[in-house]
Amino acid sequence: MAIAAPVLLITGASRGIGAATARAAARRGWDVAVNYSRDAAAADSVAAEVRALGRRAITVAADVADEAAVLAMFGRIDAELGPLAGLVNNAGIVDLKARLDQMDLARWQRMWAINISGSLLCAREAVRRMSTRHGGAGGSIVNLSSVAARLGAPGMYIDYAVSKGAIDTFTHGLAQEVAAEGIRVNAVRPGIIDTDIHAASGDRNRPQSAAGLIPMQRPGRADEVAAAIIWLLSAEASYTTGAILDVGGGR
Ligand code: NAP
Repeated sequence: MAIAAPVLLITGASRGIGAATARAAARRGWDVAVNYSRDAAAADSVAAEVRALGRRAITVAADVADEAAVLAMFGRIDAELGPLAGLVNNAGIVDLKARLDQMDLARWQRMWAINISGSLLCAREAVRRMSTRHGGAGGSIVNLSSVAARLGAPGMYIDYAVSKGAIDTFTHGLAQEVAAEGIRVNAVRPGIIDTDIHAASGDRNRPQSAAGLIPMQRPGRADEVAAAIIWLLSAEASYTTGAILDVGGGR
């Protein structure tokens, strides 16, 4: 009988960095649960690419900020793919470019719910399955932070930077909490990466227009971030936990 491939959940994998990570993970031998919130057709096409690379894939619709939907998503993965070995907490949003004095509470609550609570909810369910304390076989979690956590994103979206600062803190804390239970927890902090996310800030061309702010003078590509995520997930990073890896072209 063939040895089962490790199972990886990537949230927000229908496009951008999540989709690139799904492709890279399949090439490295992972079976992949492709989570998305709205675009089923895009998620289906990423799952088809994973299958074309010889691995199993399912698509799972779930808003990561919705606890019932997250529980149902993990239930489907248990039933359809088997024991989870990895989680990439990638789903995340920005909002329109604004100053703090132009923002309202509803905007912040949506941002915290998806970027912070969504990551904690998915990590909680992963720990409940992967921790040796709960009878699991161990595993690896990679959280998506941002260089905005360091820079603060003034005049752009301070609230987004705050949410990613929380992800850095979460990574440090959880890494230590589960280090003796077979789970490594790390984060990748991308700089300006050429994906669709920038359209939601009102500046679809930001990756190109901001190139001069980046020491390498170009935006990053989703596959360049995926490569760092895949390394942190892999056994090659077996002694790396609590690390936050900048992938920002020097920014
Ligand atoms: P993206 O192209 O906008 O893709 C976002 C993905 O997340 C999509 O698959 C989207 O699915 C999904 N998603 C959005 N809200 C969701 C929710 N509530 N529940 C589940 N899935 C949801 O974004 P990206 O640029 O690849 O960014 C991925 C991660 O990297 C984010 O955490 C982002 O903050 C971080 N990051 C990005 C950059 C950058 O410059 N691109 C820089 C630093 C950090 P649907 O299309 O189905 O809604």
